[in-house]
Amino acid sequence: MRLSQMLFVTLREDPAEAEIPSHKLLLRAGYMRRIDAGVYAYLPLLWRVLTKVSDIVRDEMNAIGAQECLLPQLQPAELWQESGRWDTYTKAEGIMFSLVDRRQRQMALGPTHEEVITTIARDMIRSYRQLPLNLYQIQTKFRDEIRSRFGLMRGREFIMKDAYSFHVTEESLKQTYQDTYTAYTNILQRCGLEFRAVDADSGAIGGSGSTEFMVLAEAGEDEVLYTADGQYAANVEKAVSLPLDAVPSPFDTYQKLETPNTPTIDSLAKFLDCSPTQIVKNVLYQVTYDNGHGVLVLVSIRGDQDVNETKLQNELSKLAGNYGASTVIALVVPDAEAQGKWAAQSLPLGYIAPDLTDDYVKSDVQGLEAKFLRMVDETAIALKNFVTGSNEAGHHTVGGNWNQEYPLPALTVDVRAAQAGDRAVHDPAQTLQVARGIEIGHIFQLGQKYSQAMGATCTAESGDEVPLWMGCYGVGVSRLAQAAVEQSYDKNGIIWPVAIAPYHAIVVVPNINDEAQMSAAETLYAELNAAGVETLLDDRKERAGVKFKDADLVGIPFRIVTGRSLKEGKVEVVQRATQTAEEMALSEVVSTIKSWVANA
Ligand code: ATP
Ligand code: MG
Repeated sequence: MRLSQMLFVTLREDPAEAEIPSHKLLLRAGYMRRIDAGVYAYLPLLWRVLTKVSDIVRDEMNAIGAQECLLPQLQPAELWQESGRWDTYTKAEGIMFSLVDRRQRQMALGPTHEEVITTIARDMIRSYRQLPLNLYQIQTKFRDEIRSRFGLMRGREFIMKDAYSFHVTEESLKQTYQDTYTAYTNILQRCGLEFRAVDADSGAIGGSGSTEFMVLAEAGEDEVLYTADGQYAANVEKAVSLPLDAVPSPFDTYQKLETPNTPTIDSLAKFLDCSPTQIVKNVLYQVTYDNGHGVLVLVSIRGDQDVNETKLQNELSKLAGNYGASTVIALVVPDAEAQGKWAAQSLPLGYIAPDLTDDYVKSDVQGLEAKFLRMVDETAIALKNFVTGSNEAGHHTVGGNWNQEYPLPALTVDVRAAQAGDRAVHDPAQTLQVARGIEIGHIFQLGQKYSQAMGATCTAESGDEVPLWMGCYGVGVSRLAQAAVEQSYDKNGIIWPVAIAPYHAIVVVPNINDEAQMSAAETLYAELNAAGVETLLDDRKERAGVKFKDADLVGIPFRIVTGRSLKEGKVEVVQRATQTAEEMALSEVVSTIKSWVANA
C-alpha cells in the first residue's frame, strides 16, 4: 500500500480524551477514531492488526477441534428469562443494551452468547455420540459498561472470540478446558505478549473453575498476586493466603474507653498503642438482590484485614434463596444518601460494634430487611480480649470476647482480601507479590448451570437423560490489540510485535523528486511484497523528518530508507524495536527482511 493513497492522518499532540499510553498512541498514529464513549471506528491499519489477531485465534481454536460459526447479535428477552439472567443483565448495574421492537417485544444486543448457544444445543444435541462439541465465533459484542474507558480496553462495542463446549461428562469438559488453556497460551505467545495465567473468580456467569489470562502491564485494571516460585498466581478477587499471626492482646479486662478522633484502624491502633491485629472492625454493606430486595450486612473482620468484595458478594449470592431471590445485583458501602433512606438514627460510623442494634434500621422501609445480616470473618473469630467499637462516637471497648460481651455472629465466612506480603498457602516461606494485568482471556467450566436452567439434555451411553456439561471461553480480540501496544512502545511510538503488526516493513523515500530514490523504492516495494513481506511505501510529498517520525509512531517493525547511500548500491535498514540502523546492499534487503519476519 502507498501512503499517498491511504487514509493516513497522524497527530503530533496527545488527544485529551486518552489517559494511558496505548490509547494515546493508537489515536495519534491514526489507527482508530472515537465515535462515542466506548465506541470506536477501527481504521484500515487497525483492521489489519485485528485481522491478524483473529487469524491467530482462529488457527489455535481450529487446532483443538473447535468449529467456527456466527450467532445472532440481536437476541430475544425470552432466552435470557429462561436462564434467569435477564434481570441481572438489564437492571441496576446490568450491562446489556436492551430495546423494544416494533412488535413490542423486548430484545437485547448480545453481551455474550450462553443463552443462544444453549438453545441451539437443546434443539440439536440428542445423544452422547454427538459430543464433545466446541463452537466458537469472532464477533462484535455490546456491553453498556459503567466505566468504559482506555479506548479498546473497555469498550461498549468490542470484538470478542467466544467459544462454548458441550459434553456428556465432567471429565470431557475438563479435557476441553485444558486444551483451551493450551490454545490460549499459544495465542498469547504467538502474538508476542508477556502474560500470566491466573486463578479467577467466576462472577455472575456462574459455574466453577476458571482461569484468566493476564497480559502484564502497569495500566492493567486487574491486580494479580503471585509467588516467585511460579507455583501460585491468582486474581486478587480470588486469591488466598495466610494472614499474619495476631499479636496477643494486652487488655485483660473489658472496659469502655474514651478514644477521641479514632474512626480509622490506624488512628485507633496509634491511640491505644496496640496492634491492628487486636482490633475487630465492623464494616457495613448494603446488598441488593435481583428481586429488588435489600439487606444491610455487618461484617466483623480483623483490623489489619480488608474485606474482598468479590468474596463477600459470592457469600451473599449463596443466601439469595433466603430472600426469595436468585442472585446479587449490587453490593455497596452505603453512603450518606443511602443511609438516609433507612437509618432510624445516625450511625456511629467509625465506632460501630458487632452488636450494633437492629433499631438503627427503620422497620418500615419497602423492600429492605429491617435487621442487619451479621457475619464474622475467620480472622476475627480467633481473637481474644479484642478492641472494638462501642456504638458511641469517640469511644471503643477493649478486652472484649465473643459469646461474653459480644454474641458471635451465626454466619462464619472467609471474605478477607489476600494482599501482597501475605504468606502463600502452598508454601508459607513464599510471600505474595503483586503485579498489574490486563485480562485478555477468561476460560470457565460452567458445569450444568445453563443446561439445567434451559433444559438442554442428551442421552448418555447408559441410556439416562442428563443435562449437558458446558464450558465457555472468551478472548478480547480488540483489547488484545491495544494490550500489545501497552506492553510495547517507546517515546517515539508503537513497537508492534511482528506477528500482529499491520505491515512488516515500510520503504521510506526521503525525496520523491529524486528519481533514483523513487525507482529503487518502487523496486524494493514490489519485490518485498512479492516475497510475502507486507510492505508500505511512503511516497508522500512530505519532509524526510516527518516520514521518519510517522514510521516510528505507527510502529512498523522494519524501515528501509532509499537515501544517500544509494550511490554505493545501499539503503539504510532500521529495526523499530532496537532502533539499530545499518547500511545494507540493495541485493540483500529482500532476503534479509524476509528471514527477519519469518524468525521474529
Ligand atoms: P472484565 O472483568 O474486564 O469486565 P469480563 O469478565 O466481563 O471482563 P468476559 O465476559 O469473560 O469478560 O469476556 C471475555 C473477554 O472479553 C475478556 O477476557 C476481555 O478480554 C474481553 N472484554 C470483556 N469486556 C470488554 C470490554 N468492555 N471491552 C473490551 N474487551 C472486553
Ligand atoms: Mg466485564
